[in-house]
Amino acid sequence: MTSNLINQKKTLFIKLLYIFSILTLTISNPISAQLAPAPGRDSTERNNPIEPFHIIDNVYYVGKTLHNPSYLFTNDEGHILIDTTFEEYVPDIQANVEKLGFNVRDIKIILSSHAHHDHVGGHALMKEVTGASMVAHEADAEIIESGGVADFREGDPWHEAKVDRFIGDQEEIKLGDTILTAHFTPGHTKGCTTWSAEVEDEGKKYDLVLICGLRMDANSPLVGNPKYPEMPQAFAYSFAVAKTLPVDVFLGAHGYWFNLAEKIEMLKDNPEVNPFIDPEGYYRIIDGWERAYLERLKKER
Ligand code: ZN
Repeated sequence: MTSNLINQKKTLFIKLLYIFSILTLTISNPISAQLAPAPGRDSTERNNPIEPFHIIDNVYYVGKTLHNPSYLFTNDEGHILIDTTFEEYVPDIQANVEKLGFNVRDIKIILSSHAHHDHVGGHALMKEVTGASMVAHEADAEIIESGGVADFREGDPWHEAKVDRFIGDQEEIKLGDTILTAHFTPGHTKGCTTWSAEVEDEGKKYDLVLICGLRMDANSPLVGNPKYPEMPQAFAYSFAVAKTLPVDVFLGAHGYWFNLAEKIEMLKDNPEVNPFIDPEGYYRIIDGWERAYLERLKKER
């Protein structure tokens, strides 16, 4: 089957699923899955600096802490960085990149999971340091360029950064033989973008997904939000998309979503087994987020 045909089928399937999820919005999901709570602001997991490490193939963890990941996709022709987290973390991220033996100046493209302070706050500084071009979905680009002011949710502002190119749903970013595909999964922000890539380990191919996060903001209404009236439909659409993505390697915009602390220990104990290959973990968190969404929808309608 040509990739074009696969894409067409995928799009049709996603549309059907979207319609189905709209129809079933009010039916509660009976599957129970426990979600790890977010670590508290003062917790070790949230603030402890960690060593950078290899995840799989050409993918590395360069974030300062467990809670705020930054990912480096390396390549002979230059590297791609996803999420710069906070501006004050940028020197640590740079040091992590160098520790792994890469040159920060070789970062050519900066991407984001979504336009919130803890993911894009360092974009302006990182762009200045690396000279990389910044690519984002148009809806998140507006927020990044406004330093957070254009977001529907009120949060801490950051130094605004210029986005050089917009990326659309299912579009690819190519740098050398690194290919990242953008999946538009709005709701948490208007341009929340989930990234996928095919990676290889010991001769086997794996589908990697870096989920942007389908969590609702606790302080903004989901239904009838004047700054984002289509939010319920956006989430329903994104759950449908997230469920159709083939996943082996599960990564996300926060470490606790994919039990990062535990997986680092697992990797130390047994380097032969890659703990990041965890499709169950991925579907479990999507399911948990969806249940929370359906409950909220029921309450607010
Ligand atoms: Zn966020």
